[in-house]
Amino acid sequence: MIQITNLSKAYGKNTVLHDISLDVPQGGSVALIGPSGSGKSTLLRCINLLEEPSAGSIRVDSQVMEFGPRSQRPGGARLAGFRAETGMVFQSFNLFPNMTVIENVMAGPLYVKHVPRDAARAQALELLDRVGMAHKADVSPSNLSGGQKQRVAIARALAMQPKVMLFDEATSALDPQLVGEVLGVMRDLAAAGMTMVVVTHEMAFARDVADTVVFMSGGYVVEKGPAHDVIENPQEDRTKEFLRHFH
Ligand code: ATP
Ligand code: MG
Repeated sequence: MIQITNLSKAYGKNTVLHDISLDVPQGGSVALIGPSGSGKSTLLRCINLLEEPSAGSIRVDSQVMEFGPRSQRPGGARLAGFRAETGMVFQSFNLFPNMTVIENVMAGPLYVKHVPRDAARAQALELLDRVGMAHKADVSPSNLSGGQKQRVAIARALAMQPKVMLFDEATSALDPQLVGEVLGVMRDLAAAGMTMVVVTHEMAFARDVADTVVFMSGGYVVEKGPAHDVIENPQEDRTKEFLRHFH
């Protein structure tokens, strides 16, 4: 589970996240929607501490991090331990180009967790099978389509056995005909009980797969509620205006 409490983030004098509180229960999935610059990526990056929040606290499972002028900067083993709880998939695929598909999936377990090679390989094959990519285990990422690369990126994140998966516009860089295969994998993950936060412009996916939709604007959570309600019957003017572009 994720519990975000009174989280703020400023770059210099520019506050880009204002007092965000958000709970994602174990097995829950939240879709973050909102216009460009509203703070969606910054919020995701704060959850796994790619960015350091200016204030507030974040709990992922049993680990809590607090931020503010008087809190100590997290570092070292504690930071690494916290990060290991979350897997993240980005818009750009970020696969290691000089490794095969299966080596990409094995790399984290092998070199970060020091899992024995046989066990890492067996797990990687299982995960590649789960995302429909086992048949490409030994090819180079450069020979894959965007949708295939993104499915490998998901398998690679899962290989670290995260408690939570974060997706930042994982399908935005894909040709339209490839979007479905990646959303399908994400849908399966949610159905299997993975706790997820998904930044997406796919409103049908947000409505049908997420259980909660959060609409952000200007660094604020403007509206949140059951996914179907927010997408089909938004209450706030800014949410209505934003969703008009998708109908
Ligand atoms: P998009 O839909 O375009 O991806 P977003 O909702 O993900 O937008 P963010 O990338 O989180 O938006 O950006 C929120 C605000 O924070 C923007 O005003 C952006 O300019 C600012 N910002 C993001 N990263 C930095 C940074 N490293 N330094 C300074 N300002 C930043
Ligand atoms: Mg973004």
